[in-house]
Amino acid sequence: MFGRRTFRIYDTKNGIEKLREALKQAETVIIGAGAGLSTSAGFTYTGERFKKYFHDFHLKYHFSDMYSGGFYPYNTLKEYWAYWSRYIYINRYMNPPKPVYNQLLNLVKDKDYFVITTNVDHCFQKAGFDRHRIFYTQGDYGLFQCSEPCHPKTYDNEDLIRKMVKAQGFDIAEDHTLIFPENVTLKMSIPTELVPHCPKCGKPMNMNLRSDDSFVQDDGWNIHARYYEDFLLKHKNMKTLFLDLGTGANTPVIVKIPFMRMTKEWPDATYASLNYGEAFALNEIKKKSICINDDIGNILNKL
Ligand SMILES: [Zn+2]
Repeated sequence: MFGRRTFRIYDTKNGIEKLREALKQAETVIIGAGAGLSTSAGFTYTGERFKKYFHDFHLKYHFSDMYSGGFYPYNTLKEYWAYWSRYIYINRYMNPPKPVYNQLLNLVKDKDYFVITTNVDHCFQKAGFDRHRIFYTQGDYGLFQCSEPCHPKTYDNEDLIRKMVKAQGFDIAEDHTLIFPENVTLKMSIPTELVPHCPKCGKPMNMNLRSDDSFVQDDGWNIHARYYEDFLLKHKNMKTLFLDLGTGANTPVIVKIPFMRMTKEWPDATYASLNYGEAFALNEIKKKSICINDDIGNILNKL
């Protein structure tokens, strides 16, 4: 609908002041969140954080970020799940290092808000956002599904993931932090009995993540998709702020493009793009847009 045209990244003049005012005025805030938001909260997948939890995997296989390790063709499911259970535990069950999600909730909690997110790390729920106001389009690290899939159901994996990381020698603190006990050499494998299999067909389980067409959209997913549609229908004529937080160029059809289209079509909508190095809005809606290129946590601090 915007046709094929070039765009450039830019900063709106006095963006912080304009965003503060837009937030104050808005009756409705619709948040669209992508990877940039969790990065700002400290969920990084490279560098120190990678080395801390995957040093042994790095030495053995030489990959140097969590994503690459997730794609490695491990010889056994016992090793595959040793890797993935650490990955899921630290990115789904541990709290993010910085309170960016909590700051965001403070800004919108007295508004009529809704969240649509491509993130699968559950940070909105952990920060206390109302679960009926969240649509997690791309799945959740905290859910398993049949890898086939032979049936469209998902399964909570917290208990099993905790057992898997403990079986490798980790301890878990009361605040959910993963602890490295002294003088323990971590195992890079889990016991056979902890390898998850589908309760119906017996095939291996997988994470409920949209990476290919085997992604299961279970009842929960469908219900939350409906919540989102209903919310949009009911708020079309309200004074609305579309807050695009760190959604990259990978999946623009989920947040960025629909947000810009609705900003154009809705009578009283503003679009704000907060993104470190990728904030832009198309010319058609430039007058209704606020673009700020900075770390999202920094921006929220200034509001
Ligand atoms: Zn199955």
